[in-house]
Formats: sequence, structure tokens, C-alpha cells
Amino acid sequence: MSRVYNFSAGPAVLPEEVLKEAAAEMLDYNGTGMSVMEMSHRSKAFEEIIQTAEKDLRELMNIPDNYKVLFLQGGASQQFAMIPMNLMKNKVADYIVTGQWAKKAWQEASKYGKANKIASSEDETFSYIPDCSDLPISEDADYVYICENNTIYGTKFKTLPNTKGKTLVADVSSCFLSEPVDVSKYGIIYGGVQKNVGPAGMVIVIIREDLITEDVLEGTPTMLQFKTHADADSLYNTPPAYNIYICGKVFKWLKNMGGLEKMKELNEKKAKVLYDFLDESKLFKGTVRKEDRSLMNVPFVTGDADLDAKFVKEAKEAGFENLKGHRSVGGMRASIYNAMPMEGVEKLVEFMKKFEEENK
Ligand SMILES: *Cc1c(COP(=O)(O)O)cnc(C)c1O
Repeated sequence: MSRVYNFSAGPAVLPEEVLKEAAAEMLDYNGTGMSVMEMSHRSKAFEEIIQTAEKDLRELMNIPDNYKVLFLQGGASQQFAMIPMNLMKNKVADYIVTGQWAKKAWQEASKYGKANKIASSEDETFSYIPDCSDLPISEDADYVYICENNTIYGTKFKTLPNTKGKTLVADVSSCFLSEPVDVSKYGIIYGGVQKNVGPAGMVIVIIREDLITEDVLEGTPTMLQFKTHADADSLYNTPPAYNIYICGKVFKWLKNMGGLEKMKELNEKKAKVLYDFLDESKLFKGTVRKEDRSLMNVPFVTGDADLDAKFVKEAKEAGFENLKGHRSVGGMRASIYNAMPMEGVEKLVEFMKKFEEENK
């Protein structure tokens, strides 16, 4: 068996300890004589898995008691519709468009009401975060929406927008659990787990209780109402059970690592190694405004598409996988999520130095 350094943006690298534990428990979970995949979601064993996962997540993120934690299907993209359907009481919402994911969310919300694009960085291919200190927030906006870390472009909000008292909704898919957050500043924080937490197909929604109501847009399916899942503690129907189990293991791993303060420190150190190199390199260049750089997704280019392709190919041969940039932007992107060890980043930088030397 040999593992590669996997720089994929998602589905992405998971902690090796977690994968090994899951493998060891595959045929017989904790003396039940069956895999978690084969188990009733109403069983005692699964009840403990989901409850422990929620408890650990609450501890990690310091989630206040007036927030519900929901484990839902449909990935992050399902939330693009579910959020307006549940929150658009006035049928007005303000969107800050800082990348493809925010743009998709904004377009989806436009189906259900008046979705205002109040700021955007599309004019410069989403390479920066606009100033959000004094935006024209709509007086009757039901919420203000952001994508906090832009997976494709590699930018991150370092300060949250001034929503002028309106509820903030944030897609944190690609920065979930990468650093501490003050949950109380948000109405909803949600993330697809396949970037930084677990296998694809599940989204975790952390939602303030007063936003969970029966007053949803007409025609909203039962499965797309927050209340359905909140009332049933995410067990209204069969939940993504194996996914919850793996996420639970990742939460334990994060706690053992020292929690989110510690992860932030490690993530900053890792990102610095790569960004420092990009800043001094004569061949490779980072593509986003320095102040807005993401700790998780690091896009870079040589400025020559053929040389980019050569780099991606040779990197792959050397055991560095998935460095090709998103199809919409080209170049390269190294996603360095929680589970990417420092060693992986250091070796990548060594490889980049060698490549630069050979391609002067
Ligand atoms: C990947 C991603 C999504 C889409 O996730 P799916 O689970 O595939 O729907 C949405 N938002 C962000 C920020 C992402 O990185």
C-alpha cells in the first residue's frame, strides 16, 4: 500500500488514523457483529454514534444552546434552495458574490424571491474579497449571505460583513473546523463535509432556533424544511449514517489534536510555508490579493499554460495528486485541509523549487 499526498479540493484528504480505525471496525463495530453501514439508524449503537458526534462538534465549535445541529443529505448545494425556502419571509435576501459557489447560491435564491447581489468581486475573477463594512443592505432583507472561504479562487473573509443587524448566513464548506468561529455571529453556518470533515453527500447545518419555523415558502417539500429535521434530531428519515460515523471520528481526531485553536495554528504554519515560497519564487505566483488569502485552498500559476500542465503531470508522477486548478480558472491549486500533514506541504515546496530550477 502506498498513499499519495492528495491536494484535492474535495472530496479530499482525511486523517489516516480515522481511515484506519474505520477499516478496523468495518466488519464488527464495537461488538455489534455488523458494520455501521448495516446497522439500523434507530439502534442503540447508532444513537450513540450520532449523539456523540453532535456533542463533540458542539464542544469543538463552542456552539451555543440556542442553535441546532442538523446532519442532512443533498450536499452543500441543496442548501442553496433550502435556505431561501425557509428563511425568505419577506422574499428578499442580500448576496455577496465572491466566487462560483456564492454565485450559484444567489442564482438559486433568485427563483424564490428578490435576491440582491449587493457586492461582487467578479470584475477581477474573484481574486479578492470586497469591502463589506458599509454595504447597501436591504431594509427588508431576510438575511445576508456569504461564502466564507472560496474553494475555487482561494480567498477567505478575514472579517465578517457588516450586515447592519440582519441575519448572516454562511457557506463554510471549505473552511469548516479549520479555525475557531464565533457561532453567535451567524444565523446559519453550513458546510458540505467532503472538503474538510468527511465523505461526500452530507451537509452539516448549524442554525439558530428562531430561524426554524413552519412559516416557509408555499410548496416547500417536507424534506427541505429545517423544522422537519430539527424536530426529529436529524432522524426524520434514514440519515447518511456511515457519513455521520466518519465525521464523528474526525471530530474526535480534532479534539485529540488540541481543538480548533490548535488547528488554526497548524493551518497558518502550513499555509505560510507555501505562500512564502510563492512570494519569493520567480516562476510560480499566487493569484489572489494577499490580505484575502485562504488557509485552505492555494491557487497559483506559472503564467504559461503549457508549463502549468507540465508541472501538474510531473507532480503527479512524484506522488502529489490533484494539483490541477479548477476547470474554470486553470493553473494549479493546492488544497491543504486539516488532514494534510505539514510534511506534505514541505515536500510539495521542495518539488516546486526543483521544478523551478529545471525550467528556468
Ligand atoms: C464544494 C462546495 C460546494 C458544493 O458542495 P456539494 O456538496 O457538492 O453540493 C458548495 N460550497 C462550497 C464553498 C464548496 O466548496
